[in-house]
Amino acid sequence: MPLADDLVREIDARRDDLIALTQDLLRIPTLNPPGENYREICDYLQKRLAASGFDVELIRAHGTPGDSDRYPRWNIVARRDGDRPGECVHFNSHIDVVDVGHGWTKDPFGGELIDGKIYGRGACDMKGGLAASIVAAEAFLAVSPEFSGAIEISGTADEESGGYGGVAYLAGKGYFSPDRVQHVIIPEPLNKDRICLGHRGVWWAEVETFGEIAHGSMPFLGDCAVRHMGAVIDEMEESLFPALAQKRTDMPVVPEGARQSTLNINSIHGGQSEGDADFTGLPSPCVPDSCRMVIDRRFLLEENIDEVQAEVLEVLKTVEGRRDKFRYDVRELHRVLPTMTEKDAPVVMTVAKAIRETMGKDAEYVVSPGTYDQKHIDRIGKLKNCIAYGPGILDLAHKPDEYVGVDDMLDSAKVMGRSLIELLAEGQVQPSEKGGSHELA
Ligand SMILES: [Zn+2]
Repeated sequence: MPLADDLVREIDARRDDLIALTQDLLRIPTLNPPGENYREICDYLQKRLAASGFDVELIRAHGTPGDSDRYPRWNIVARRDGDRPGECVHFNSHIDVVDVGHGWTKDPFGGELIDGKIYGRGACDMKGGLAASIVAAEAFLAVSPEFSGAIEISGTADEESGGYGGVAYLAGKGYFSPDRVQHVIIPEPLNKDRICLGHRGVWWAEVETFGEIAHGSMPFLGDCAVRHMGAVIDEMEESLFPALAQKRTDMPVVPEGARQSTLNINSIHGGQSEGDADFTGLPSPCVPDSCRMVIDRRFLLEENIDEVQAEVLEVLKTVEGRRDKFRYDVRELHRVLPTMTEKDAPVVMTVAKAIRETMGKDAEYVVSPGTYDQKHIDRIGKLKNCIAYGPGILDLAHKPDEYVGVDDMLDSAKVMGRSLIELLAEGQVQPSEKGGSHELA
């Protein structure tokens, strides 16, 4: 395949450019929260992509959570149309990074290159993936300036905080509707030989137990909400956690431990709020009249969300049957349904073939234990032909001394570039051969 050979050579020749691009992106600290420098990184990307012939739009997600004049939620969508009609391949990367945290031995915003690794917050999650997709698209354009369909590259806000000011907003505006975009690749760090088909579902809820306030020296005059919550946790240990451990999934979730239903008690709070760190007084003696617990339930394609909720209500009903004056409330905070793209979807088959051709091995199919922006593309955009595929080691995401390997970026750029050849260049009849342009189905 001469075109693919040209592409591989072209990408190898852009090694230094790929490194510099990744370093530039890492040196713009786009911390979320609060959502810093989104405009700056979008301006940078606009310059880069406009120079490569893309039509670029900057879109602010006005009024979404966190959006303010101080921290505006900017997104970029760049599109380059080919000269013939065809399908659109969209690469979507989030531009935000999480808090630095402790334990770094490298500058988290320095973009240092040491022994073939580029260090920085967001190196693997996912500025390395963004850079790889840009270089893949540019190399493809260099070897195949005439192509059918379109390439889109987006950089979107707030993935780390739910994606409402990013992909969800754009999906709501029609940017991911199937008549505009047909294939979506999200270059999240899933390892360069793995295709991530989707993710488990999420149900976040707050459970509250109620009591009655009284003087702490005479607790029998009140009713302790924390003891009620203790009974709830006992019952969860007794019945719910063992039941969840039994629920296994056919989804290829990684790591292996997440191939079942899980529940995390995210936080628990009862009674008086804790004083500030510099408060030196004592608490006052009171019986807590409220206790709140936030639960994070991750569920499987084989489960439905009504059952997931019913299980928690069942625990509460059991406890209610055992305890006097047990009163409670459950509030849903957040829900995301599980999603998994079929293995024979066009984007999956294309990328799998490109992995085989680039790395000489079969792709591994995985599903993410947590969610990412595919949820919005599926639910709001109604587009099923979507995967996550990108360079970087998933386990390094959000950790100190996060890095991305340059060779990994190059390999995954080759996979992305080959996918573009397959979807936009190969198999298409060249107008010159047939003497005139024609519509593609
Ligand atoms: Zn990410």
